[in-house]
Amino acid sequence: MFGHLPRTRLATLPTPLERGPELPGAVRLWVKRDDLTGLGMGGNKARKLEFLCGAAVAEGARSLVTVGAGQSNHCRMTAAAGALLGLEVHLVLAGDRPDELRGNQLLSVLFGAQLHFTGAEESHWGELEIASEAVVGTLDAQGAAPYAIPIGGSTPMGAVGYAAAFVEMMAQFDERAIAPAAVVHASSSGGTHAGLLAGMAAVRAQGRPVPEVLAIGVARGVNHGHPDIAALAADTLELMGLDRTLVERGDVYVDPNWMGDDYAVPTRAGDAAIRWAARHGGWVLDRVYSGKGMAGLVGNAEAGRWQPGSDVVFLHTGGQPSLFAPEGAPAGIGDGR
Ligand SMILES: *Cc1c(COP(=O)(O)O)cnc(C)c1O
Repeated sequence: MFGHLPRTRLATLPTPLERGPELPGAVRLWVKRDDLTGLGMGGNKARKLEFLCGAAVAEGARSLVTVGAGQSNHCRMTAAAGALLGLEVHLVLAGDRPDELRGNQLLSVLFGAQLHFTGAEESHWGELEIASEAVVGTLDAQGAAPYAIPIGGSTPMGAVGYAAAFVEMMAQFDERAIAPAAVVHASSSGGTHAGLLAGMAAVRAQGRPVPEVLAIGVARGVNHGHPDIAALAADTLELMGLDRTLVERGDVYVDPNWMGDDYAVPTRAGDAAIRWAARHGGWVLDRVYSGKGMAGLVGNAEAGRWQPGSDVVFLHTGGQPSLFAPEGAPAGIGDGR
């Protein structure tokens, strides 16, 4: 399914699958530790970048250009990938240059990337893509052979990384002799979701029972159907050399109830989930993605989405560096009590 695609080895795989405590609704939690993919402090983008950078290197690229929010994990991991592969990296970011670099920005610069601040608002991703085209144009003119990666690396080529992750998880479920009811994760640019669905559909087509994939939307776009996850999953299957129609419309579900006011705007439930995960498993979640994702998992368990006694997997997509950015710490821990 993946062997014919160019791939650079960037992540430490397989990532661990850890058994967690029982949740409300008598659901057994498992945590798939994709925060431990290794690349530049880890996270889900490492799996996408293995295939995206594979394509870039195969094309003869000498530089990478990508875009993201001010505290983008994707940009930080792209910076690390460029460092490993000897490619110059340009990051086109929302917001203005801060007085002091922190969190993901600090790491991106440490990995040698150049930051381009656009002044754009956090979730105005269209503006970032336009600014990115200008950077690509300049690099092209300089002969730097740029390879452009869109927001979150959520192309079919990037999503293939999560189809492979689904297959990896199935092998771990077999080892543990579990048949989880669901794999739950935070979704923003949609590539992780689409890739998991492609992998799920490919495994299901072999006649095996598979968990549902439940995406917790943490950005306005995915909550309103952008990108079209079913279409992205179909394109991903095609790239894998499989039948586009294996993913059915009914497979695609984004739970929009956990984002709060907007992308990167913290929620009480998200902050509570960060504290809960830290105190029950030593897991470190963040306010933008994984905290809201875990809040969504717990909320669905409480609401009885899964049968009592079910196993449910939280795909921990990472995001730890943003805890050390301004406003990154969850509420309710600062008073030392
Ligand atoms: C990018 C990211 C996500 C969302 O993944 P998409 O493929 O963009 O939907 C979730 N969690 C973290 C920590 C991320 O950095």
